[in-house]
Amino acid sequence: MTRLLIIGGVAGGATAAARARRLDEAAEITVLERGPYVSYANCGLPYYIGRDIRQRSALLLQTPEGFDARYGVKVRVNTEALELDRAGRRVRVRGPEGEGWVPYDALILAQGGLPIMPPLPGADAPHVFRLWTVPDVDRLDAFLAERKPASAVVVGGGFIGLEMAEAFRQRGLQTTVVELLPTVMGVMDRELGVAVGRELEANGVQVITGVGLKAVHAAERTVELADGRRVPADLVLFSVGVRPELTLARSAGLELGPSGGLQVDEHLRTSDPHVWAAGDMVEVVQRVSGRKVRIPLAGPANRQGRIAATNALGGDMRYGGALGTSVVKIFEATAAMTGLTERAAREAGLDVGVAVLHKDHHAGYYPGAKELTLKLVYRRPDGLLLGAQAFGHAGVEKRIDVLATALHGRMTLDDLAQLDLAYAPPYSSANDPVNLAAFIGQNDLSGFSPSITAAALAAELGGPTPPLVLDVRTLGEHGKGHLRGALHIPVDELRWELGQVPRDRRLVVHCRTGFRSHLALRILRQSGFPEVRNLTGGYLSMQAEPGLTLEVE
Ligand SMILES: Cc1cc2nc3c(=O)[nH]c(=O)nc-3n(C[C@H](O)[C@H](O)[C@H](O)COP(=O)(O)OP(=O)(O)OC[C@H]3O[C@@H](n4cnc5c(N)ncnc54)[C@H](O)[C@@H]3O)c2cc1C
Repeated sequence: MTRLLIIGGVAGGATAAARARRLDEAAEITVLERGPYVSYANCGLPYYIGRDIRQRSALLLQTPEGFDARYGVKVRVNTEALELDRAGRRVRVRGPEGEGWVPYDALILAQGGLPIMPPLPGADAPHVFRLWTVPDVDRLDAFLAERKPASAVVVGGGFIGLEMAEAFRQRGLQTTVVELLPTVMGVMDRELGVAVGRELEANGVQVITGVGLKAVHAAERTVELADGRRVPADLVLFSVGVRPELTLARSAGLELGPSGGLQVDEHLRTSDPHVWAAGDMVEVVQRVSGRKVRIPLAGPANRQGRIAATNALGGDMRYGGALGTSVVKIFEATAAMTGLTERAAREAGLDVGVAVLHKDHHAGYYPGAKELTLKLVYRRPDGLLLGAQAFGHAGVEKRIDVLATALHGRMTLDDLAQLDLAYAPPYSSANDPVNLAAFIGQNDLSGFSPSITAAALAAELGGPTPPLVLDVRTLGEHGKGHLRGALHIPVDELRWELGQVPRDRRLVVHCRTGFRSHLALRILRQSGFPEVRNLTGGYLSMQAEPGLTLEVE
């Protein structure tokens, strides 16, 4: 009989325990959980604060009694693992039953991570919160009910911070997000982060980016920013990142990896042959870059828990790494991503191409079409897909899940261009946005319609031989805002106005999204203009690029 001990009883740990029982009826399975709850829905916590989830009990997926009844697993809550004696294969614990040693034959660490709480002045005040556990949510919910705060500042514009900003708005609070990076959702590329920021503002959230927090002033109920500004804050929520919980592993001498997570092999075995690990505490292979990274998300944690349990009980299941596929709801909008961003791909030293599509999520003639922004990042010259990001009000996560599957299968733009995806007008277009984005990339790589990004254009305009920018939008669009110095000829007049376009300059053509400029580019190329590039993502992407000077007439 194998004695399997699991430390941590939420995503990775609870999954591992349930899987272990399905594999081995005879195993003695024990879960140690420091907190008062096992297997709770931490991803659901923001939605309980926002009251999308109305019943607190819905967050509690299992109880120790339920685990025992269904799986024959002994769950010891309020019990902390204090010390790992690897040589003796035992763990020292402290809990309601006192302090003592628990022996094991196989150990799984699924201890997750801890939210980072920056040591700023005032950050320990009673109206300052984090959101990580059920006790955290209870404390915050009680504060909202009893103190009835009018204003909230969310420090950190990542996934949890933005979910909480929405929750606070839903509870009627004046809400501000403060983000140190130039945009919220800093894990995404700039144009997507800008779109998310605008959506927050459209829903009444004040967004302050590019500046950090200096102090929390409890008495005057404000926070002070690094630039001296003060923002009303009856309540402050920190959501600035997660660090892996490695105290136990480190003191036991288990090896850590280059990204600072616990090192595991493809069987999720640590440097100790009797210890496996899963979830936020481990580092895994990023499937696209091949680099070791930490991807603290629930999907990978659950799948890793399943694999770690299998291998801890003598099985042979391999973990191939993660893509970091993620999605977040921003009021009525959705932002999602998979694989490498353009920034990450460039940092990895890859020769990168980018295709940005702004397109209705289904046939424009069918009621309810919503504009979707889809960005593909691919490798030059072979078109291997490296990553994708999307933002919009419908159809976002569907495209990202398709592209995550494509990434998993190491597909290229040529594969994506031919993907046979489901179509009827209420759902998509005959060419799905995934197909269309791939066409843009194919046209770039083949030279049929070479593209340039807004950031690259900004750099070239500041260089020694700046290209001439040709704006082919309508007069009305041009009047509402345009790039300073751009030549303006609407696409429908271009064939008759070619004489206005200098033949001795490199050209960059743009419209609002990139489609009409693609038509213009083809007219120009077939009229003998040798070097013309299409601005991918068009004016919408230009608006997110700080290096470009846009002006209104
Ligand atoms: C508010 C919130 C929203 C989120 N939303 C999403 C989402 O929408 N999508 C998504 O993919 N991910 C989301 N996540 C992240 C996701 O919840 C985590 O990636 C996932 O829970 C990690 O699982 P884990 O098992 O590694 O760690 P956890 O689920 O954090 O569990 C680790 C457990 O180990 C226990 N523990 C640690 N040390 C000890 C010890 N020494 N002794 C005993 N017990 C110990 C801890 O108390 C903890 O309960 C969210 C997280 C939070 C907090």
